[in-house]
Amino acid sequence: MCIFNKVTLKYFNTFSIDVSAESIKEVYSESELLIYWRQATQNNKSVLLLGGGCNVLFLEDYNGVVLLNRIKGLLVHESSNFWHLHIGAGEIWHQLVVYSLFRNMPGLENLAWIPGYVGAAPIHNIGAFGVELQQFCEYVDVLQLNNGEKIRFMSFDCKFGYRDSIFKKKFYKYAVVAVGLKISKIWHPVLNYRSLRSLNVSEISPIQLFRFIYDLRCRSIPDPSVIGNAGSFFKNPIVDRNIADNLSNCYPDMPCSFQCNGKVKLFAAWLIDSCHLKGYRLGNAGVYSKQSLVLINSNQCATGIEIVKLACFIRNRVADKFSIWLEPEVRFIDAHGEIDAIKLFNELC
Ligand SMILES: Cc1cc2nc3c(=O)[nH]c(=O)nc-3n(C[C@H](O)[C@H](O)[C@H](O)COP(=O)(O)OP(=O)(O)OC[C@H]3O[C@@H](n4cnc5c(N)ncnc54)[C@H](O)[C@@H]3O)c2cc1C
Repeated sequence: MCIFNKVTLKYFNTFSIDVSAESIKEVYSESELLIYWRQATQNNKSVLLLGGGCNVLFLEDYNGVVLLNRIKGLLVHESSNFWHLHIGAGEIWHQLVVYSLFRNMPGLENLAWIPGYVGAAPIHNIGAFGVELQQFCEYVDVLQLNNGEKIRFMSFDCKFGYRDSIFKKKFYKYAVVAVGLKISKIWHPVLNYRSLRSLNVSEISPIQLFRFIYDLRCRSIPDPSVIGNAGSFFKNPIVDRNIADNLSNCYPDMPCSFQCNGKVKLFAAWLIDSCHLKGYRLGNAGVYSKQSLVLINSNQCATGIEIVKLACFIRNRVADKFSIWLEPEVRFIDAHGEIDAIKLFNELC
């Protein structure tokens, strides 16, 4: 166990926002998690669980204890058609992808290079290149922090959606401690995403696909150790068919993707690009010049509020042009914990 007191959180969030917490503790077991959670709450302190801080935006100093989930462990067993992996929440997601790939259990390649830890992956239902975690998730083990009880949510009960799950809705006093994945022994490359369609389904190997995705990601997403960011800042809006049809009539080149439920996914990057905001800067916050869905801490000294103000500006411009209100994918954290990002936008803009 490592304890840091009144330490900056700059190195614990990929946006590199320089705020502090009262204390930061690395937690390596469920019992440590329970002890620190109880200690903090008995002293009326807020507790924030973090993995890699890759999906959060700190708005100010955090008045409480940050617990970094580092519960390790990886068990593999097989059934006739699947590999079953039980993974501690404190394992690094990308290392898991590499481990499975190089031990001949391919399947997770499209989700390679997504920063962060395994524990956050089901909360956010991480996704990339046409694949989402939910396609592999067998269960999620959750520790109820107020009574130490462990609950297993089977995949169906996780209510996975686009960058969404039940854990985003009822996550107070819970910690994800392990995730169970199920990987088919028969590998089929998933190449239906636009940027993968040039690949040959019958010739490509899992490792070639993994490398291809690495190159694509390097070209479009800044390395957070160099330029602070949290990946895609906004979600792709999912709208009713009639709204998409009206927009398509006005903007025939607008890309969109039809969903199974009859709704239509629009592409936030295209909407932002169409407002000519790629590379735009507001104070120390900016829109990444190669991918407008990524907001950046331009010179590593932006505040969280500067990023929010830029996000507000983008939302307003997109709404003025398309009557679509973008919603953030990133979670906003104030002095006491997560806040409603949309409410903050409405107050600030
Ligand atoms: C460069 C970059 C690229 C990215 N690309 C993608 C992408 O392609 N696809 C994608 O889906 N996402 C992407 N992301 C977002 C991010 O990688 C994922 O959301 C990831 O799952 C976050 O993991 P984390 O451990 O850093 O979570 P954190 O940011 O630490 O936490 C996120 C939220 O989950 C909560 N939390 C974390 N761990 C636990 C736990 N064990 N128990 C309970 N609550 C917990 C936190 O309190 C917080 O609210 C990207 C981010 C970056 C910086």
